[in-house]
Amino acid sequence: MTIKKTPVTLRPYKRVQESYQKLKICRKCRSFTVLGERACPSCGKQTLVPVEKYAATKVTRSHWRSRALLLLLLGAGLAFADVLWESILLLVVGIALLYLLLTMQKRATPALHRIQLEKCFIRHQSGLAAGLNRDHQSAVEVFQQGDKPRTYEMLREIGSLVQNDRLRMEQIMLLQTFRLRKDMDLMLEPLLMESFNAELVAYIGEIARIRRDLIRENTFRYMLQHESQIMKLPNGNAIMALVAGAAVRKQRYMKLYPYLLLRYARLLPKERFLRLYRYVQVQGHATSSTPLRDEVMRIYEEKYKWDPDFEVQPG
Ligand SMILES: [Zn+2]
Repeated sequence: MTIKKTPVTLRPYKRVQESYQKLKICRKCRSFTVLGERACPSCGKQTLVPVEKYAATKVTRSHWRSRALLLLLLGAGLAFADVLWESILLLVVGIALLYLLLTMQKRATPALHRIQLEKCFIRHQSGLAAGLNRDHQSAVEVFQQGDKPRTYEMLREIGSLVQNDRLRMEQIMLLQTFRLRKDMDLMLEPLLMESFNAELVAYIGEIARIRRDLIRENTFRYMLQHESQIMKLPNGNAIMALVAGAAVRKQRYMKLYPYLLLRYARLLPKERFLRLYRYVQVQGHATSSTPLRDEVMRIYEEKYKWDPDFEVQPG
């Protein structure tokens, strides 16, 4: 399972709060895409707009329609008014109503944006699926032309809206051909699958080596869930130890996954083990004994008893 890895440069991934913020729609042909900035991949016109903006425009338009209708009614009322006081009364009521309408519209705008977006997605359901499919097709074409980093970037964009294992697998396979670096904009949790997958495990191992901060709850859970299968891999043991090494990064993880630490404490490099040792020291109320504490103390006695770095720190 040794793949030749090539150094690559990846463009940073633009993160958004909601995945649909990545989605664009063509004002001409109503095609959807997550790729491309201005030019529509379907009709080629420079008419792409973020779907969010598209929905907002529709809401604004309907706001203006209501305002115009109110003004029209007011105008008609004024035309039919016989005496001055009627006109004044109408004008006062009209202004009050307009004020009320504007306030209500302003307050309802965020909710209306959401409703409009939902409507848009429901109305164009098949178009949306077709658009994302076409995006995937373009990624495959780019792959066939040999541009792997660009393919990965495209799949990553599509992955922000489409969550399926096939797409995850394609991204992992590509990532495995890259020489990964700490400064790369990498991600892990969106690529996690339900079932055991050796490629994914290898990728997690690599991430645990260069970007420990990306190893979080879901990854620990995945590794523990599939531990027996991971251990059958040639370097499964080492990968489990790397992930255990990531768990000592936070007190919270050490509290959540004592079993993981207990099993792989012996394989931790010194600097990682020291963190675990200090944690156990602080946690244990001197006499309390837990399996993890016992194991850590055993390893300490065997390997680090005379190591000055391990001298007890007050606190
Ligand atoms: Zn178009």
